[in-house]
Amino acid sequence: MTAPLLELDNVTISYQRRRDLVDAVRNVSLVVQPGEAYGLVGESGCGKSTLAMAVLRYLPRNGLLTSGHVLFEGRDLFTMTAPELRRIRGDRIAMVYQNPGSALNPTIRVGAQVAEVYRHHRGLAHRAATEAALDMLRKVRISEPDRVAALYPYQLSGGMQQRVVIAMALASDPALLVLDEPTTALDATVQADILDLFQDLRGELKASILFISHNLAVVQQVCDRIGVMYAGELIEQGTIREVFQRPRHPYTAALFDCIPDFGVRKKDRRLAGIAGGVPDLADLGTGCLYEPRCLISRTVCRVDHPELMRAGTRHLSRCFFHMETPLPGSAAPLAGVAQSPENGRSDRLPLLSLNKVGRRFGKAHILDEIDLEIAPGETFGLVGESGSGKSTLAKVIAGLVPPSTGTVALNNERVAGTASRRTRRQRRDVQMVFQTPDATLNPKKRLASILGRAVRVLAGLTGRRKRDRSSALLADVQLPPKMMTATPDRLSGGQRQRVAIARAFAGDPKLVILDEPTSALDVSVQASILNLLLDLQRESEVAYLFISHDLAVVRYLSDRIGVMYLGEIVEIGPAERVFRPPFHPYTQSLIAAVPRLGTEKPARPVSLDVAPSGPADRPSGCPFHTRCPRAYDPCRTEAPPWRDAGEGYMIRCWIALDALEASQTAALRTRRKPDPVRVGPRP
Ligand code: SF4
Ligand code: SF4
Repeated sequence: MTAPLLELDNVTISYQRRRDLVDAVRNVSLVVQPGEAYGLVGESGCGKSTLAMAVLRYLPRNGLLTSGHVLFEGRDLFTMTAPELRRIRGDRIAMVYQNPGSALNPTIRVGAQVAEVYRHHRGLAHRAATEAALDMLRKVRISEPDRVAALYPYQLSGGMQQRVVIAMALASDPALLVLDEPTTALDATVQADILDLFQDLRGELKASILFISHNLAVVQQVCDRIGVMYAGELIEQGTIREVFQRPRHPYTAALFDCIPDFGVRKKDRRLAGIAGGVPDLADLGTGCLYEPRCLISRTVCRVDHPELMRAGTRHLSRCFFHMETPLPGSAAPLAGVAQSPENGRSDRLPLLSLNKVGRRFGKAHILDEIDLEIAPGETFGLVGESGSGKSTLAKVIAGLVPPSTGTVALNNERVAGTASRRTRRQRRDVQMVFQTPDATLNPKKRLASILGRAVRVLAGLTGRRKRDRSSALLADVQLPPKMMTATPDRLSGGQRQRVAIARAFAGDPKLVILDEPTSALDVSVQASILNLLLDLQRESEVAYLFISHDLAVVRYLSDRIGVMYLGEIVEIGPAERVFRPPFHPYTQSLIAAVPRLGTEKPARPVSLDVAPSGPADRPSGCPFHTRCPRAYDPCRTEAPPWRDAGEGYMIRCWIALDALEASQTAALRTRRKPDPVRVGPRP
């Protein structure tokens, strides 16, 4: 048997918090074999990133290895001298982080940055290093390496920057590549291309991979084995096939249940969620750490701490009753929730009407002649990549950004462009919830004050009635009454988002705009927030404009969906129609890019790896033609027509609906190989 490349032996890592040492990682043992890709998954605070930092001995000042060994090629990283460590870090272990922007020097051309690695770590002369850098840029699928090498990082899209960072990491020919959430900050289409690149590179390069991610589907696509962490412990480990086919820890099974399957809709089932929260690492009990949330716990679980035990040939689980782990999909929904109805009250007057709404900033068209109606009680989902104009559209509706052209009407009544010029009732009727509530919640104000102010301003209540209404709002978002005296800085991310939602509902709004409300949350917290939104909608008949980059979540929650590209809606219709052929070629690419849970590695029918144009250099004709694999002559010069498929389902494309449907249905059936990849820098 070959010796492991990386071995973590009973590793415990602690952080100094005031006078106490708090264990962030406890007694973790795992190995990564030469050539193997090992995925480490878990929710925020589970210790996976701490472990990744330990592999490079990059722990922060207050972090300590309090027990165990981190062995790389048989040598203990924590007993090496500083020069030895420097050599290992540059030559043998390379790391790729979530944010490529912070890994690149903004003042040096990207080609020179890659060449520098060849000079410094491989000892190549200037000319040889430059040539090797161009070769490596080609290897990471940058199709015009000479041109791209001469650009500065800011001239590249996020996906291209991440390719350059990967090129730099590979330039030193490392034995181990540590990837810490390398695709989390990227759009789904770019993520799909980077994951595809990793799969290709694995066949070509010898490097082992330690892949850290919160996303099970992403890890499944790249890795051979997976380890699941919970509250600082490794609680399950096995091959991808073993764990994805039959998880043997109740937490892993529950995580699978939190993720909406791509085809599941809100009328089909509620998301199961995981009741409760992760335990306080500074105050752990004696038994199983997952016991307070576990659906199959028994008395022994409260008393004894389970060790990792064998659950299959290469499968380990930290659960006394791992053979009884519920199958994903069999868990009951969280208590107190029921099925949600489909809402699409098209027979009533629209609540919101946008008529030819446009927004320019200088020469840039951020929004271009948007027509849209949302019915009372309806959930309208808006999808598209960064820069598609989704958030600007939301701000125009909320009155935070005035439109340059066109009109916004509520209940058939035209409203002013800015919120300050709208009536109090109009302001109250439209509320907004943002991705990170931190920016809008004063961290030092108590919830009683935050909610009380919203109730006074939006509902006009004072005194006892204000306090009663604030308490009711807190109860509506399922937070305990004692939290009224807490401040936001003491709450978890999910609890803060609940407060933001409670505040938005203070004046009984008619429309709540939710701009990526769950994107910064773990999947278990996301499930509970989505359930909460459905509960509130059932009780109040509020309409939602739900903006998200996550197609599975949008499909799950929405009654109708609009797909945006460069400031235009290019496809609109009922949720179940938008996700089956014929779809707009751009929607087809978005759908293909969604990493899905399953035991097969997915085929990707369309590659979109050409950086999108920006709003300032909007292409003529169809704005998607610079990336569309099906573009032909008219697409480049003339705006495409709307094609009406009936039942409110419309696509904007030069290709006829029956031709689109025939080719897309065939592509889905045959799961054909990806189209040739097209790479280019941001124009
Ligand atoms: S040991 Fe007990 S509480 Fe822990 S996961 Fe297993 S069944 Fe649940
Ligand atoms: S109009 Fe042309 S470029 Fe635009 S999506 Fe259709 S085929 Fe592609």
